[in-house]
Amino acid sequence: MNVSEWLEELSKIEERFVSAVKENPDFDNIFESFLGKKGELTLLLRKLGEFSPDDKKLLGRKGNELKEKIVKFLEENKNKFGGFKKYSFDIDVTLPPKKLNLSCAHPLTVTLNRIIESFEKLGFSVEWGPLVEKDYYNFEALNFPPDHPARDMQDTFYTELKDEKDKNYLLRTHTSPVQIRSMLKYKPPMRIISPGKVFRSEAVDATHSFVFNQIEGFYVDKNVSMSDLKWTLESFIKDLFGQKADLKFSPSYFPFVEPGAQVEVSCVFCGGKDQNCRVCKGRGWLEMLGAGMIHPKVLENCGYDPNVFSGFAFGAGIERFTMLLFGIDDLRVLYENDLRILRQIY
Ligand SMILES: [Zn+2]
Repeated sequence: MNVSEWLEELSKIEERFVSAVKENPDFDNIFESFLGKKGELTLLLRKLGEFSPDDKKLLGRKGNELKEKIVKFLEENKNKFGGFKKYSFDIDVTLPPKKLNLSCAHPLTVTLNRIIESFEKLGFSVEWGPLVEKDYYNFEALNFPPDHPARDMQDTFYTELKDEKDKNYLLRTHTSPVQIRSMLKYKPPMRIISPGKVFRSEAVDATHSFVFNQIEGFYVDKNVSMSDLKWTLESFIKDLFGQKADLKFSPSYFPFVEPGAQVEVSCVFCGGKDQNCRVCKGRGWLEMLGAGMIHPKVLENCGYDPNVFSGFAFGAGIERFTMLLFGIDDLRVLYENDLRILRQIY
């Protein structure tokens, strides 16, 4: 195509535009035929690439003159044709809006927030620890020497960190390592709770999971005694479940406390009246916490003189509290994220 052929084509397009305006002044049709992606003028302007810069300048100006003419016509007659039918949106402002699904906190988070609130009232602050933990913090400093049989109480996922010299890492089996980390970091008096995920090689059933959430609490100062522990836990449990909730302490063994106690709370489901209660299994009591006085060796490991300082510590599963607070009798509900069930909880 040479210059004159191009100009001839341009004037033919102009003629066709003029007759289109006279015969069938349809807005969409005019736009599509001349300026659309495959419009005549669009295609002709695209051919400009074949010409020399000088010719391109001249032809481009002529082409754009026609383009402007067509655009001007469309602009001026927009209202007459009702605008772009094809490209306009019909908005019906009277239609009711789509239902919005608002999000909300997961029951475990709700429970954790309540627990934190409860302990904050008692002067505790919150501390977080790493999920991949050194064997030393998870076991050894807590008085579980390498060959101690008590390690078998916690089936552990061991791992190692590539770039670390110390290869003894694991997914923490409890939140107790935060006790060690905090005691090394802060000075007494300290009242700390530490929530978070913990991991154990457990088979999943109605009350067990390989990953679950714990909360650790401890108080280290001069003259901390078992009665402080009892008062603290009683205040906490009654704050969470109401004044009716009863607590029972019985002796138990954990390597990092001496003496150690198992703390049970009266069954919130059946109050001890249902022999077939799935949760307490007819006992009327639920094992809720492990607790005790921090073992002198643990205090020593953190550089504290056990003759001067003492402390109590406790740990509990957050899932257990969630189940009692929301009346859930199967732990798995909390991880399956079935909206039909989660919605019932709220
Ligand atoms: Zn029960």
